[in-house]
Amino acid sequence: MSKLRLAVIGAGPAGIYASDLILKAERDFEVSIDLFDLLPAPYGLVRYGVAPDHPRIKGIIRALYEVLDRGDIRFFGNVKYGTDITLADLKEHYNAVIFATGAIKDADLNIPGVELDGSYGAADFVNWYDSHPDFPRTWPLHAKEIAVIGNGNVALDAARMLIKRPADLLSTDIPQHVYEGLQNSQVTDVHVFGRRGPAQVKFSPLELREALHVEGVQAIVYPEDFQYDEASQVAIDSNNQVRVMVKTLEELKENPQAPEVRRLHLHFMEAPVEIVGEDGKVSGLVTQRQELDGTGNARALSEKKTYSVQAVYRAVGYFGSPVDEIPFDSKKGVIQNHEGQVLDAQGQQIPGVYCTGWIKRGPVGLIGHTKADAIETISHVIADRKLWWEPSNPGEDQITDLLSERGVKFIDWQGWLAIDSQERSLGESAGKERTKLFDRSQMLEIATGE
Ligand SMILES: Cc1cc2nc3c(=O)[nH]c(=O)nc-3n(C[C@H](O)[C@H](O)[C@H](O)COP(=O)(O)OP(=O)(O)OC[C@H]3O[C@@H](n4cnc5c(N)ncnc54)[C@H](O)[C@@H]3O)c2cc1C
Repeated sequence: MSKLRLAVIGAGPAGIYASDLILKAERDFEVSIDLFDLLPAPYGLVRYGVAPDHPRIKGIIRALYEVLDRGDIRFFGNVKYGTDITLADLKEHYNAVIFATGAIKDADLNIPGVELDGSYGAADFVNWYDSHPDFPRTWPLHAKEIAVIGNGNVALDAARMLIKRPADLLSTDIPQHVYEGLQNSQVTDVHVFGRRGPAQVKFSPLELREALHVEGVQAIVYPEDFQYDEASQVAIDSNNQVRVMVKTLEELKENPQAPEVRRLHLHFMEAPVEIVGEDGKVSGLVTQRQELDGTGNARALSEKKTYSVQAVYRAVGYFGSPVDEIPFDSKKGVIQNHEGQVLDAQGQQIPGVYCTGWIKRGPVGLIGHTKADAIETISHVIADRKLWWEPSNPGEDQITDLLSERGVKFIDWQGWLAIDSQERSLGESAGKERTKLFDRSQMLEIATGE
């Protein structure tokens, strides 16, 4: 029986689902999988994106853990494709590779003032509160009034994490420095801005309801922002999610909440056009009034407003980063591909190279969507058998020898379990399930016992 030695780059949900599904797929060849991640921990954005106060979603980690704990996928944490291993290495040791490298950065928002001190990408804030090992430990939270630009779930996550009482996060996995940072925050008002109306928001209904009922926070909407056009009406009639969200927002409009010390304002029909500053620091956000054009899109009116804010968070989407030696579509921020088969500049399939998840499809959609992605990608991997590489060094020990020769300290599954166990005992002593570790060298020490 022939064998597929498969390398998967990225141990987020996409990489883990693809590995799991190919092992479970109907096939007439053996499979052995090595799963690499540049981070010392698996699970990608489930660990480093999903907000700490979403334990139900974080609970998906349990299912991903069970896949990796079975023992038929080898995990190599702390190994970066592009520096620690290259495409040439993969061709020497494997029959094929699936890139599942996801996204970590904010999409650009090109408005004047974006470079001012106090203008932040939401992804950087997420990386701070979710304790990504490669991001700074401190986060400036001096602003009393904050603008969050965007009408998707990441905007709501950022707004909720900014406005929530820190004590209500004590039971989550956040480490002490994140808790203290949030506790020192001066914030009283967070303003979330969307260009279009309540029927065009990209939130999910659960996240919206949660944001409107944060303990100690008054949620506020503005009646003049409630605009609907023909397309809005069609969306309300045909899409249950849109209907629920519009109803939720309408209810708040009709029944204003009692005053609280902190406020969360949701503004619609306001497009941010400029961040203004004083002495290099953010002092306001200029927005331009919009109207709906009948198709659900917005067009600008002449009226502008300036909101006094001392910080602006840009939550206009994530964006994928190029992957070394792999053709990249820099407009969409994805690897050039057709259904997960990677294509060259001429649109021809590159044998042996595949992609899945956010780096295949762009940074939209929930964790569950990466499963459907994986099914499509692995069906091509299986069907393309004649296109697989013929590795000169397919032995399973060869790759570990190569990494060791290069001085790459990789974290295997047992190493990760040691980190996991340390996080759980740290959590236990604080009366919670887990406290995250965030220092890469400490995590390495725990994993390797060195
Ligand atoms: C802030 C935020 C909150 C979210 N909240 C939710 C939620 O509540 N519910 C929900 O269903 N979905 C949520 N999502 C979406 C969900 O996280 C994504 O759908 C999912 O994580 C995408 O999976 P992925 O595996 O494609 O990418 P990722 O999860 O990004 O995983 C990619 C992995 O590849 C690794 N990698 C990247 N480059 C390299 C390299 N060169 N070498 C080795 N490894 C590499 C990364 O370290 C990472 O571990 C959220 C997303 C964000 C950004």
